[in-house]
Amino acid sequence: MSKLKKSILGWLGEKFCEPARVSKVEVISEHFRLIHVDSPSFAKLKWKAGDKIQINVGDWNMRTYTPIAHQPLLSRIQLLVFIHGDGPGATWAKNLKRGDLCEVFGPRSSLSVSSYEIPRVLFGDETSFAVAAGLKNYYGNTIDVSWVFEVASIEESKQVCERFGIARDTVFIEKQNNGSHFSQVMTSLRSRLDGSNRTELFLTGNARSIQSVRNAIRDLNHSNTVLFPKAYWSPGKVGLD
Ligand SMILES: Cc1cc2nc3c(=O)[nH]c(=O)nc-3n(C[C@H](O)[C@H](O)[C@H](O)COP(=O)(O)OP(=O)(O)OC[C@H]3O[C@@H](n4cnc5c(N)ncnc54)[C@H](O)[C@@H]3O)c2cc1C
Repeated sequence: MSKLKKSILGWLGEKFCEPARVSKVEVISEHFRLIHVDSPSFAKLKWKAGDKIQINVGDWNMRTYTPIAHQPLLSRIQLLVFIHGDGPGATWAKNLKRGDLCEVFGPRSSLSVSSYEIPRVLFGDETSFAVAAGLKNYYGNTIDVSWVFEVASIEESKQVCERFGIARDTVFIEKQNNGSHFSQVMTSLRSRLDGSNRTELFLTGNARSIQSVRNAIRDLNHSNTVLFPKAYWSPGKVGLD
């Protein structure tokens, strides 16, 4: 990042961000951390599942995450972060310890549930476990939502999803670099989309996978399937959002 960009971001950050402190870091598995973040601004927060928060993960690199829970009495939110490489967000999550300070912007609205009655399917990857866990925490069984995830490790993903109560009836499909797993993704999605009733399909995770699913769904001519795409990352792009 150029010096000028960094100093502009720093100036904006100091003006608009809130100070926060990490109160606990739980190692859920090799690639997942559950991070408890406290900030006085979280006491009065009106959190909804699916909201996003931006965090200064160092040098004013802002990265976006989805709080999975809000504990107003503790002025706390919890994040479930997937460590996938050595970008600033992954490095931050990997090295984080209790007492570390950071700056936060939000939470703000990102992906929301409009009404309780409509069945939903959420497609995504490891970065989407947080939105799924948040929906589960917030709505319990009052909404009908099923999950289809493309993941690098089925074993690790199942273990993490079990911990957050989102493994039951969940489809885990092993990602292949050449995209050959996509037919399995579409078979799973098609079996969950009833062409005759309104179903909401949340598309999260990798922008490229979202685009492929969108194209395939369009070809199905399902007028009752309503898409809500929200890319969480895109190959080669940093800090999407
Ligand atoms: C609204 C929203 C909510 C999100 N919520 C969460 C959440 O709760 N938990 C969570 O873990 N992530 C979440 N993400 C995704 C997260 O912000 C990105 O993965 C982010 O790029 C991580 O930053 P980084 O510094 O580690 O990598 P970056 O510096 O941003 O990227 C470095 C490289 O890694 C690639 N990359 C980024 N993510 C992945 C990935 N998952 N797999 C493989 N390659 C990748 C990039 O394309 C780039 O080439 C969310 C994103 C958005 C937009």
